[in-house]
Amino acid sequence: MKTYGLLGKDISYSLSPAMHNAAFKALNVEAEYKIFDKAEEELDSFFTSLREGEVAGCNVTIPYKEKALDYVEKKDNVVESIGSLNTVVKRGGILEGHNTDHDGFVNALTGKENGDLNFDPNGKNVFVFGAGGAAKAVLFTLLGWTPKCVKKIVIADIDTQKAERLADYVSERLEGDTVISVAERSQYEDFISNSDLLVNATPCGMKETDPPLFDYKNGIRESLYVFDLIYVKDTPLVKGARASGAKAINGLNMLLYQAAASFKIWTKVNAPIEIMRKALLKQTKD
Ligand code: NAP
Repeated sequence: MKTYGLLGKDISYSLSPAMHNAAFKALNVEAEYKIFDKAEEELDSFFTSLREGEVAGCNVTIPYKEKALDYVEKKDNVVESIGSLNTVVKRGGILEGHNTDHDGFVNALTGKENGDLNFDPNGKNVFVFGAGGAAKAVLFTLLGWTPKCVKKIVIADIDTQKAERLADYVSERLEGDTVISVAERSQYEDFISNSDLLVNATPCGMKETDPPLFDYKNGIRESLYVFDLIYVKDTPLVKGARASGAKAINGLNMLLYQAAASFKIWTKVNAPIEIMRKALLKQTKD
């Protein structure tokens, strides 16, 4: 029996075990997926257990997506650019780091399945809320790995300096001629009215008490596409966008597709997406 799992801290809420265990069962793979809820001082011993084969592979989430880089010998191109990973596998005696959040985002953004946004990024203006790890994956995906490139990206974070640091980080690595800028709070509505796609890569909207990011009632026009990375529910942003006639999705398909890509990295077998989707939906309804 092989053991896989999710490494992170305070992650008992995770929906990943349900998806992966359903996939292993459906394909008769003798494996289980567990939660590895670890304190930072336990990371050394955790990665030793990966090296020694007690754990066959893992996903990595908050707050270790960047720290985990210190433990892998090989990084895929996405990990090299983004500077964070969410999947580790041992191959030929060495630990490899991959980032499948990128696969999850691009597939849900451009895909045509139920719950995908079916958005064509070519030449479009994008507004991104958040300057954390998920926003970084979103930005690099929009700039480098979508089939076609965006024209302009505006970043907004509650901490404007953090948004500026991310804009600088991305601009330094930019090869195309996409314009990157930062919005202050007073500019949100103006920038959003000129955007084609709005992405929420902050946790804002998870709690009932969260104040809105901006005025959803008057600030969203019908032609705007909205992608909220929060996957536990349809947030007030998603609901507000739909009420305005805009197309909006939550982060469920992104979560599903990143899990499927990790599954394939570990097992070299295509993931049974519909089985995983069913397991995921069951968890979100329970
Ligand atoms: P993170 O590293 O904590 O980054 C979130 C950023 O948003 C932080 O800079 C935070 O600022 C900022 N922020 C918080 N509230 C804000 C507000 N009201 N207005 C503007 N900025 C605000 O978190 P993350 O790892 O990037 O994750 C962000 C979200 O994406 C989470 O909800 C996570 O669940 C989701 N996510 C979904 C998937 C998926 O597969 N669907 C994958 C990855 C992440 P402070 O640090 O000052 O609070």
